[in-house]
Amino acid sequence: MCVAGCEARVRSALSRRGFFKGAAAAGFAATAVPARAAEARSFSKVVDLTHTMSPDFPTFMGKPGIEMEREFDFKKDRFNLFWWHVVEHAGTHLDAPIHFSEAGLSTDQLPVEQLVVPLAVVNVVYQAEQEPDYGLSREDLAKWEEKHGRLPAGCCVALHSGWGELATADPARFAGRDVNGTFHFPGFSPEAAAWLLKERDVAGIAVDTMSLDIGSSQEFKTHQVWLPSGRWGLENVANLDKVPETGATLVVGAAKVKDSTGGLARVLALV
Ligand SMILES: [Zn+2]
Repeated sequence: MCVAGCEARVRSALSRRGFFKGAAAAGFAATAVPARAAEARSFSKVVDLTHTMSPDFPTFMGKPGIEMEREFDFKKDRFNLFWWHVVEHAGTHLDAPIHFSEAGLSTDQLPVEQLVVPLAVVNVVYQAEQEPDYGLSREDLAKWEEKHGRLPAGCCVALHSGWGELATADPARFAGRDVNGTFHFPGFSPEAAAWLLKERDVAGIAVDTMSLDIGSSQEFKTHQVWLPSGRWGLENVANLDKVPETGATLVVGAAKVKDSTGGLARVLALV
């Protein structure tokens, strides 16, 4: 099967090389990443990288990320319908560039070519076991490239810390909140994010924890480095242990809501 978006019509899209030179010169100004050519890929199975959303899913704010109010009931009304009250940044969700920039792209403005991309999974399960506030490092990326070659053009780099399983198995540990209210979970170090931005062609980064930054971060430096560049992030990604470190295609089915800074997403890996 050919992945949607991989056909020849995408091949005429703009080359990124010129953009990267420009972005470096502009100090990573808030600029949309142009659409790019994608190579044809095939797949034999689909892995769901999405957690089931519910009012019980751990959130950064500590309040339910979704509330569902029954508006119509089949027994009475002959159809079912809920009103949802949803926080944009809860559950498996997208961070759009506008989340951390004044004039960045909102979710509805992201080019679809940047939402179907090669997936590179960086395993830091061992490091995260030793240090809950582990920041994925430049060295981790170098090790991935030693093993698999250069990060594929236009890819998503995903942090696999092992935290994903905790979201349902041990929600308190997943959130990692200590007695002082400080979170502790792995994320991307700002240095690794800056390196990816400058040295590689990456559409987005993903984490199996609640934030692109490590839990104890107060300044959200990784968010600040990454999102204003016009790239996206994914948080609370599930099942990264069920996909290969390289070779899968990521499909980010983010809800297309006007001016949204992110939002619930159905995230799939085509393996
Ligand atoms: Zn978010």
